[in-house]
Amino acid sequence: MKHQTVTIIGGGIAGLTTAIALHRIGIDVQIFEASKQIEPLGAGLGLGINAMIAFKELGIYQEVIQHGRILPSFSIYDHFGKPITKTNFEQTTNIGNFTIHRGKLQQILLSQLAPSAIQLDKRVEHFETTDNGVELTFKNGSTHLTNYLIVADGIHSVIRQKLVPSASSRYAGYTCWRAIINNHTLNIDETSETWGPDGRFGLIPLADKTLYWFACVNTSFNNPKFKSYTVADLQHHFRRYHDPIPEILKHTLDNSLIHNDILDIRPINQFAFGRIVLIGDAAHATTPNMGQGACQAIEDAATIAQCMSRETDFEQAFRTFEKRRLKRTKWITDTSWKIGQLAQLENPLLIWLRNVVLRSMPTSVSAKQMKKIEAVDFLDAK
Ligand SMILES: Cc1cc2nc3c(=O)[nH]c(=O)nc-3n(C[C@H](O)[C@H](O)[C@H](O)COP(=O)(O)OP(=O)(O)OC[C@H]3O[C@@H](n4cnc5c(N)ncnc54)[C@H](O)[C@@H]3O)c2cc1C
Repeated sequence: MKHQTVTIIGGGIAGLTTAIALHRIGIDVQIFEASKQIEPLGAGLGLGINAMIAFKELGIYQEVIQHGRILPSFSIYDHFGKPITKTNFEQTTNIGNFTIHRGKLQQILLSQLAPSAIQLDKRVEHFETTDNGVELTFKNGSTHLTNYLIVADGIHSVIRQKLVPSASSRYAGYTCWRAIINNHTLNIDETSETWGPDGRFGLIPLADKTLYWFACVNTSFNNPKFKSYTVADLQHHFRRYHDPIPEILKHTLDNSLIHNDILDIRPINQFAFGRIVLIGDAAHATTPNMGQGACQAIEDAATIAQCMSRETDFEQAFRTFEKRRLKRTKWITDTSWKIGQLAQLENPLLIWLRNVVLRSMPTSVSAKQMKKIEAVDFLDAK
């Protein structure tokens, strides 16, 4: 059979992990990335057991755990610091939940690929399908012809916007600040969220004695008031919140703040379009409330490689991938959206009611949800 070329658009977590997964099964791919340089951007990421199983399959588990930090439990507090729930992650397998700096993960993934596998400063602006392939046109006017195209260009994907014009990003109703700070003196070792009337504050210890924190506040989309918010503004905003939140903010520098509104994509019902397939946030961007956006992108990588290793007809492989991924990613997006609504309640009566219900909820409920997240299908289907 004639050699078939496969191209990936986007060198984020989805694109890089997919390139590694395809390389392992003997499919060489070319990645085109819009950025001029791959810089260690972003803050922290939670890597659920599902993502870690995928990394084990792809042979990069050890590298990831070397730079990650095990996450043994997750607690939720009210703004006085009184516990609402605590989930202990059962170590039923040797594989745990981890936290990692997003930039570090991206570096690990990059190190697994030959430098020639990725071309930078290549922003795709346009594509056209032909009888035997897809022609891409880049911002600089150059073109590239490929037999198959894997689209991993993130939540604002230009290709998805053309293939599924009805899909649009959906504002979740809250804006978010993130930062990574030194954890040497604070010495925080518990991953937790505080849910209160002024918003949500999350703490995630990372490796190398660093701490990733985030804060989500309800507001209208693109509110100019919050665009210029400084650490001092956040200190004032969260002044009613328990220790160590004020202390954490005190240790944060203004220039380390990352701010963005929280968006997802309302679930779509098609990922495969002939010779083109959507993966990662381009296909199923979710709110971050379950810490599953990147994890689902990593599952996509393991699944698509399995589909393409079993089918010589890659259009069929893309359809099989779609069939295997639609329901699960929709469940994540929908569930994460609902968790966000619950976590961001502001009405004191509803907050009281929510906390009473959550405090009396049997641990079997969260254990069931964890089991569902862990239930990847790229192992069973072997
Ligand atoms: C506040 C917050 C917290 C989060 N926390 C977690 C967490 O704890 N756990 C978790 O699993 N996930 C988390 N996520 C989600 C996670 O970051 C994303 O799901 C994940 O990064 C998606 O990866 P991706 O590769 O699909 O997209 P991206 O990371 O967006 O990568 C897309 C790449 O494509 C490139 N690109 C874009 N357009 C073009 C173009 N036209 N041509 C060429 N290249 C292009 C971009 O430059 C980029 O490099 C969080 C997200 C947010 C906002």
